[in-house]
Amino acid sequence: MSLASETIELAATDGHPVEPESLIDSALVVRGMTVTYGEKPAIFSVDATIPVGSMVAIVGPNGAGKSTLIKAAMNIVPRVSGSVSIFGQSLGKARDRIAYVPQRASIDWDFPTRVIDVVLMGLYRDLGLLRLVRARHRKAALDCLERVGMADFADRQIGQLSGGQQQRVFLARALAQNADLYLLDEPLAGVDAATEKAIIDVLQGLKAEGRTVICVHHDLATVADYFDHVLLLNVRKIAEGPIATTFTEDNLQAAYGGRLATTHIDQLHLPAA
Ligand code: ADP
Ligand code: MG
Repeated sequence: MSLASETIELAATDGHPVEPESLIDSALVVRGMTVTYGEKPAIFSVDATIPVGSMVAIVGPNGAGKSTLIKAAMNIVPRVSGSVSIFGQSLGKARDRIAYVPQRASIDWDFPTRVIDVVLMGLYRDLGLLRLVRARHRKAALDCLERVGMADFADRQIGQLSGGQQQRVFLARALAQNADLYLLDEPLAGVDAATEKAIIDVLQGLKAEGRTVICVHHDLATVADYFDHVLLLNVRKIAEGPIATTFTEDNLQAAYGGRLATTHIDQLHLPAA
């Protein structure tokens, strides 16, 4: 049985058949995904079709289920229903092609680990069973730190860094994974302007290499500048597609429950209707 047909069967058992073409051309396809932590769903019946090579913002108010959507796609939280396909494969088969950077606030920063060791974790597939770190692994990790401007901090304890520096180190770890699909949960939250620019440059470089980048993003003012595709979420999917047709005032008001002030909307550089 081919990989694609296995995924299609998997999807079809949930009653959400997926067309084969969209599976192959898509980095990530989610169908009918529902997650509940208690009684109320955190996300409900969400569909998403993320094209290969796109740079995607997941946008929505606090508690909209943005982190949950990413975690459920990665099997980090269990889902009530729904299917996930990554480059036309099941998550298990595609796992090595994905790098995930969790929301900074969800990480325990007191664990005693050096920056270089955090990045080396991204190389776990190359390290072999004995986890033997050779000179070339250290060099590769340092190269990734260099790309995010953190090479000088290699031997520091991760807990001693500022929030923005920690975020860069986790991006370096993701770079070390050499993935095809990058899932980042609010990579720009709480970072200064210089770090924001550095992180966006790295992410746009990944996109230029044909990789797919998906970010939960909290700053509506920069969505149109940084991203080419947007998914608006508020428990349900409100809209998804290219910025030009999807990042509209109507969709934003729907996602934010009509709570965005007109003055705020005016500042967003929305694509002309
Ligand atoms: P967002 O990332 O959009 O802010 P989340 O996905 O973190 O939203 O959370 C969606 C909803 O699920 C929120 O109401 C949140 O309080 C709840 N939630 C998130 N994680 C858990 C958890 N581990 N246990 C219980 N409720 C949770
Ligand atoms: Mg979140």
